[in-house]
Amino acid sequence: MIKDNLSALIQSIPSTVTLVAVSKTKPVASLLEAHQAGQRDFGENKVQELVDKASVLPQNIRWHMIGHLQRNKVKYIAPFVSLIHSVDSFRLLNEINKQGKKNDRVIDCLLQVRIAQEETKFGLTFENSNEILNQNNYTHIRIRGLMGMASFTDNQIQIESEFKSLAQYYKQYQDQYDWDTLSMGMSGDYPLALSCGSTMIRVGSRIFGSRN
Ligand SMILES: *Cc1c(COP(=O)(O)O)cnc(C)c1O
Repeated sequence: MIKDNLSALIQSIPSTVTLVAVSKTKPVASLLEAHQAGQRDFGENKVQELVDKASVLPQNIRWHMIGHLQRNKVKYIAPFVSLIHSVDSFRLLNEINKQGKKNDRVIDCLLQVRIAQEETKFGLTFENSNEILNQNNYTHIRIRGLMGMASFTDNQIQIESEFKSLAQYYKQYQDQYDWDTLSMGMSGDYPLALSCGSTMIRVGSRIFGSRN
């Protein structure tokens, strides 16, 4: 089932787009099934769960941290995480840089920008993002682009305008900062995200089934 979901999904997206399989709350067996079908990028939103799964799953998996990240937990994923999508403060960047230095690696990150109208979503304003980009002199972090989540709504016009605002900001700075990653789109809205210029989608329930 997971295998079929994955292959249908992969066939429906351009080959240049990276698919992050969002496996939060799902058992290791489900991730293994996806891995056996060739999937290598997996996303989790909790540090503990990510670390636990990484310790028992194949080494060639690229782990994506997609959920809100507390500074005191960066150290657990710093040795191996492939991409942190959820950078939303200077303080978090400072900590990631420190842990990158300790582990002698440059950690790839995305700035999470708040594009949704809802108040509950984490993320930077465009102004805060500008401040970070202007002062970015971190030796052990590479900011590769941006991440955003659209509002949880059926209003396609609204979702599209939120995605477009992020895509526009991305395009504005892409060359200057040498970005290659615009992470937007989930199970319910990834086709729209792709039409707006997304290069990376984070899809969970459409692959693994709905979460309880
Ligand atoms: C859960 C989650 C997803 C995937 O959601 P689905 O609707 O199951 O595809 C994507 N991005 C983030 C940040 C998430 O927390």
